[in-house]
Amino acid sequence: MPDYDVIVIGAGNGGLTASASLAKRGAKVLLLERHNLPGGCATSFIRGRFEFEVALHQLSGLGTPEQPGPLRGLLGQLAVLDKIEFTEEDTLYRTMVPGEFEVTLKADRTEIIAALKEKFPDEADAIDKFFDLVWEFCMQMVSIFFMRDPEASREKYPIYCKYAIKSSKEVLDDYFKSPFLKLAIASYWGYVGLPPSRLTFMDMAMLLWAYTEFKPFHIKGGSQALSNAILDTFIKAGGYPRFNCGAKKIIISDGKVKGVITETGEEITCDYVVSNASTISTYMEMLDEKYVPDDKLKMLGSRSVGPSGFTIYCGLDCEPQDLGIDVSTQFISLNTDIERQFASWRTFDRPEMCGMSCYDVADPDFSPAGACQVAVINLQFADHWLTIPPSQYADVKYRYAQALLDIVEKVYPGFGDALEEVDVSSPITHLRYLGHPGGGFYGFEKFAKDSNLFIPPTSGIDGLYFAGAWAGMAGFQPTLESGVSAAKAIYRKMNK
Ligand SMILES: Cc1cc2nc3c(=O)[nH]c(=O)nc-3n(C[C@H](O)[C@H](O)[C@H](O)COP(=O)(O)OP(=O)(O)OC[C@H]3O[C@@H](n4cnc5c(N)ncnc54)[C@H](O)[C@@H]3O)c2cc1C
Repeated sequence: MPDYDVIVIGAGNGGLTASASLAKRGAKVLLLERHNLPGGCATSFIRGRFEFEVALHQLSGLGTPEQPGPLRGLLGQLAVLDKIEFTEEDTLYRTMVPGEFEVTLKADRTEIIAALKEKFPDEADAIDKFFDLVWEFCMQMVSIFFMRDPEASREKYPIYCKYAIKSSKEVLDDYFKSPFLKLAIASYWGYVGLPPSRLTFMDMAMLLWAYTEFKPFHIKGGSQALSNAILDTFIKAGGYPRFNCGAKKIIISDGKVKGVITETGEEITCDYVVSNASTISTYMEMLDEKYVPDDKLKMLGSRSVGPSGFTIYCGLDCEPQDLGIDVSTQFISLNTDIERQFASWRTFDRPEMCGMSCYDVADPDFSPAGACQVAVINLQFADHWLTIPPSQYADVKYRYAQALLDIVEKVYPGFGDALEEVDVSSPITHLRYLGHPGGGFYGFEKFAKDSNLFIPPTSGIDGLYFAGAWAGMAGFQPTLESGVSAAKAIYRKMNK
């Protein structure tokens, strides 16, 4: 008898939902996490009187009790829905180019269209047509992938087949003239980490549609509260979590998973492993080379690591309204050239855009009374950060942070003076805490050819499964769902 049915490596979103789902179904599960707390990206940390949210800017897919999204059902099944409270944001975002343009898009299709038409009356017709296309496209996609229409065909779903892997840029250029309008509609590009020229229409449309239909949410207590709640379900279902305990090797025998060796050299046997670590470290470090299937090596060689990020966690000694902050999520760009903004993620050049989330707008109790919390973020790849000598790291980090704060100051004068606590994370920070190559928290870059449409979900090794951003889509909703999918696949196999 093995020590456990399943060992899950990593307690990020995917690892947590895989563990909890399997334990609830009666499997004997060990969860190994290298860090000292659950969540991976979905964590928080404390500085002064603030508990800073590490990652979550907007939770997608939850929906309201009246119009539930897929995540509401999933969290209900994991018995975590009653343990946490969510706060709905009524606005998708405000996009602005300081001094030139700004528009605020509510989380409502009619209001989005009205706001855009007011700013761009000459393009009113195109705006209507574009949103018809986005909604029709998403309805077709839902029928194919979520309702699993057995008769899906090119003839039945022509809009989906025509547009799915077109670049967003191509579609935006077909429909619109104003670069400000294109910027406003494509503002979620940073959530995938690809500029419109490389972002599939499928991803851009899904983000707009899903956040509008199911609304963006924050979590009371931050994403750490969600991670803790899933862990609680796991423990109550009889699961065994171990923190400060990394996995070093996956043991294979006769072509099958047989166990895991921890970083302290302990050998623990099992029939199945779910890895929430990156596929790169799972195949290249945890498995002996002879067991890695050739097609997986080719796959790893053909893909590129996605971006990490640079975040300034700001604790302010004032309420949001004292600075005029009245929208939770904002994108500030110094120009409309998204391609250039994307290119700057590989350099220390002065940043030309940032995202900004103020958690206290939707949830005034998020921070202590009289204070609020803002995360200012710009994505960054890790390569140039890895070239900095340790002696210069702090200096480079704080100069880059100041350049981002200068952007915020253009829109909210006095922001810098209101700072009470500040901490900064760079790609190096994410690399250290997550252990992922390049500190990537979106996994691989999500070009069309690398999307889930073309990458087989199986590991090629009997008993090995993946959950998380490196084996599918990134973001809270997809990674939470990926763990449940891995658990279902294992459960089916266990009960064959
Ligand atoms: C700053 C930031 C902002 C973000 N904003 C949003 C947002 O607004 N909306 C959204 O949907 N998504 C957002 N994301 C992305 C989202 O947080 C991630 O895509 C998602 O949380 C990744 O989950 P995961 O399951 O892949 O696991 P991860 O969070 O990557 O965690 C993996 C876990 O595995 C552990 N691990 C790795 N190797 C080992 C090993 N050998 N042994 C044991 N443990 C190991 C790590 O310690 C870690 O805990 C953001 C992320 C960040 C960092």
